[in-house]
Amino acid sequence: MVTGSTELPGPVGAGVYNVYTGGPAGSIVPTAAQLGLEPPRFCAACGRRMIVQVRPDGWWAKCSRHGTVDSKDLELR
Ligand SMILES: [Zn+2]
Repeated sequence: MVTGSTELPGPVGAGVYNVYTGGPAGSIVPTAAQLGLEPPRFCAACGRRMIVQVRPDGWWAKCSRHGTVDSKDLELR
């Protein structure tokens, strides 16, 4: 089982770029709880602006290189 930290998909968990500013992340990886409150706008792996769609029950964000992340994949509660 997973202990402690959550494994996030690359476009939100890669930790290379800040998913909210697109700048260098400096090893700042957003938590699933943070992502539940505010959808990511930039890919954490490549810094590209992602296509973000917000739904009543969550969101998905798509990087043209790294694919789609759906908030339901983050096991938000
Ligand atoms: Zn990407």
